[in-house]
Amino acid sequence: MSEVVDHLAEMTRFRDRDVMDVTLVSALRDLLEPLSAAIYRCVGEPGQERWLTRARLKAGELVASADSLWAEPESLPLAGEYPLRLECMSHRGVLQTRRGEHWLTLFPLATEREVLGVMELESLAPLKVSEQRTVTSILRIYHNFQGLLDYSERDTLTGLLNRKTFDESFLKTLGELSAQHSEQAHTEDDRRHAGARPSAWLGVIDIDHFKKVNDGFGHLIGDEVLLLLSRLMRNSFRFHDLLYRFGGEEFVVLMRCDGELDAEHAFERLRHNAEQFAFPQVGHISVSIGFTEVRAGDSPAAAFERADRAVYFAKGNGRNQVQSYAQLVEQGRFQESTKQSAVELF
Ligand code: GH3
Ligand code: MG
Ligand code: MG
Repeated sequence: MSEVVDHLAEMTRFRDRDVMDVTLVSALRDLLEPLSAAIYRCVGEPGQERWLTRARLKAGELVASADSLWAEPESLPLAGEYPLRLECMSHRGVLQTRRGEHWLTLFPLATEREVLGVMELESLAPLKVSEQRTVTSILRIYHNFQGLLDYSERDTLTGLLNRKTFDESFLKTLGELSAQHSEQAHTEDDRRHAGARPSAWLGVIDIDHFKKVNDGFGHLIGDEVLLLLSRLMRNSFRFHDLLYRFGGEEFVVLMRCDGELDAEHAFERLRHNAEQFAFPQVGHISVSIGFTEVRAGDSPAAAFERADRAVYFAKGNGRNQVQSYAQLVEQGRFQESTKQSAVELF
């Protein structure tokens, strides 16, 4: 009993979803001693979903493994390759089945609104009912805690991350990026095309003439536009890109990709999707987007300021466009900012 409580305390010690997933598989591995314990999330656009390994721990292993946040979606297994996991998700219930000499037990990972993935335990013998109940109870605590994290980290209207969480996740991304670079320097990764190098990009998105929407149709309809735009953002970027509502009608994206061209394409996709979408009553709107590369040693405020200057340029240059800070500096449209942190965000 006290072992279970210890694991729960460990799982909820950090306000970090990556750590939570790792501590969850460690807890179940220690408590039930299965051959392996793993968390798989079903990610990607409808019809092209794939399995992202959030954490997997085998008997005897000290450290859990997980897919890199820089994993190319195409490198992940397609959802259809593991029909049992899909069945567990659509069933929303525990599934237990024999696989060769072993047993697989799957538990759905669900919030109140959606099923996100599965927890999979592989064991020599089937899990007893009491063991299944223990796992289900631990998963309930896991879900409740995730719900609390959502409440403090997400914007209530759109469900996107809020501004409060930006600094921390920016610095975490920066750390992961430099780890990724040193790893790549050691192991020449020829799966990536020549010259490609993992990088992080920050984009600021501001709706054009949004005051007119509010003035013409009222705040409630204005809010609906914000909600629908946040959905377009989800569809325009990849599952591991971080999307924020910074306040009002201003949004931020922190994305990982292989270079400026990829980043520009993604922001252009959003600009295009927003322009094409027919918003109920309002009709068509447009957005102005500025973006910049996240640099080694950057501060969140300095990177934000660069992207925001590019948005400002777009506003003065006809709106409904994507502008790159680096290209604007190169074209001599404005001077490189020498300030490390000219804009205080908080
Ligand atoms: P611009 O093209 O220059 O960006 O013009 P704009 O009218 O969008 O100007 P600006 O970005 O300065 O205006 C922001 C407006 O967004 C002001 C306010 O009416 C509206 N707004 C801010 N927060 C909210 C919100 O939470 N809900 C709604 N409905 N409107 C908001
Ligand atoms: Mg604005
Ligand atoms: Mg605006």
